[in-house]
Amino acid sequence: MKTADRADLREEVERQEERIDELEETIKQLASEAGVGPMTQCFRCDHGRLVMQDGFLECTKCGYRTGL
Ligand SMILES: [Zn+2]
Repeated sequence: MKTADRADLREEVERQEERIDELEETIKQLASEAGVGPMTQCFRCDHGRLVMQDGFLECTKCGYRTGL
């Protein structure tokens, strides 16, 4: 691989990382504005999603609730 190619590659990687950082920031902002945390899969029923509800994580399907 030529040096120029490698520099291009690194630049590309850095660009992608910046984009991911921006996306993460956007998600965090949206989550805090909407009052919900990042959704995670329910570990009890495996179908629902856990969303932040009054300081608890609550499953949208089975109603499972857990404190943080
Ligand atoms: Zn569930």
